[in-house]
Amino acid sequence: MSNSILVVGGGFSGLTAAIEAAELGHDVYIVEKSPFLGGRVAQLSKYFPKLCPPSCGLEIQFQRIRKNPRIKFFTQAEVVGLTGQKGNYTVNVAIAPRHTAPHNVDFSFLASTLEGEATSEFELGLAKRKALYCSMPFAFPGRYVLDPAALTQSDKVKLAGNQFVNLDEAPKAVELSVGAIVVATGWKPYDVTHLSNLGAGSVKNCISNMQMERLASPFGPTAGKIVRPSDGHAPQRIAFVQCAGSRDQNHLNYCSYICCMATLKQCAYLAEQYPDAKITVYYIDLRTPGRYVKVLDKVKASPNVSFVKGKVADVVQGANDSVTLQVEDAIRGEKLTLSYDMVVLATGMQPSLAEAKLPLPVPVDEDGFIIGGEEAGIFAAGCARMPLDVMRSAQSGTAAALKAVQTVKGR
Ligand code: SF4
Repeated sequence: MSNSILVVGGGFSGLTAAIEAAELGHDVYIVEKSPFLGGRVAQLSKYFPKLCPPSCGLEIQFQRIRKNPRIKFFTQAEVVGLTGQKGNYTVNVAIAPRHTAPHNVDFSFLASTLEGEATSEFELGLAKRKALYCSMPFAFPGRYVLDPAALTQSDKVKLAGNQFVNLDEAPKAVELSVGAIVVATGWKPYDVTHLSNLGAGSVKNCISNMQMERLASPFGPTAGKIVRPSDGHAPQRIAFVQCAGSRDQNHLNYCSYICCMATLKQCAYLAEQYPDAKITVYYIDLRTPGRYVKVLDKVKASPNVSFVKGKVADVVQGANDSVTLQVEDAIRGEKLTLSYDMVVLATGMQPSLAEAKLPLPVPVDEDGFIIGGEEAGIFAAGCARMPLDVMRSAQSGTAAALKAVQTVKGR
């Protein structure tokens, strides 16, 4: 029987669950599939409710993890097997090699001298990364990752014999004994290339809202300057297309909860950088729960932001890298064809488990949200359960941690 708790996923809700359980005296293991902790929040420029940069909340969590010997974490790791029952599970974890020394070595100069590059997953395709890389300045762990597939032959020669790099490092496997499990596998932006009419991936300067976060981030590919990806020009006419993939029975048949607020936030990013820019938000409904309605009132008061109720039917390439929208204004009953410098799709939130499967007895609904598992001592947290904002994800992580603690204490 085990008092330990496994947390699958190292995003905001998973980290919160891990810290809460560890601070109540339990050994906790975090298993995270990417090379760094922090999840989607790390990619944001700012987040509600206080519009803090992600370094704010995440660095506090990273600090609590560093200081708590009860928390152990594995990155580039996945749960590949589970045996046993509630109170006494054996979990098999596979860990991909990082190929760099297991202690803090500053690889920044070496990384800059390598030729090999790959598309940056963290920058959502807006930039390249080196074959030896760290995702951002406050990445945790702050240990570089080497991607051997991106190395050129001359890079390999350069790295041969480097005592801090091990190109031959093999994958590892560990076995953990735990009494309860928190599943905080999070979400991913809906792949809007499935929405062929909305132009994502094919129309220049039609980007997703998460790409907009990277453009606005001081640590992003443009050092925080919001510019058109195609030519680096400052946009002066910008449109937001709400419900891009959400509330559509052929795609995500639910409201993604965060994308109206994300758009209002991004209107503020634009107004700050380009006070004269004209912004239009095309929406079906505007969802600003609770006190967030004040944010909507503030943005609506801006003379440069207009809200048009209407569904965008088509997004196509216009002249000079502009983007043309076809939309029906539902109030005036007019069909409009309009041109913008940049279009932002308010992309929906899809649970990671919509496609990736876990070898755990957790039932999911038709959309991939977890809908059970508690009888087995397995508790869902954050956006693995439902679309949530950062604050509610953290609350959900705390709730799952308390249930996991009760499970291992009450066995
Ligand atoms: Fe649409 Fe807004 Fe719901 Fe997102 S939050 S799915 S944009 S109504």
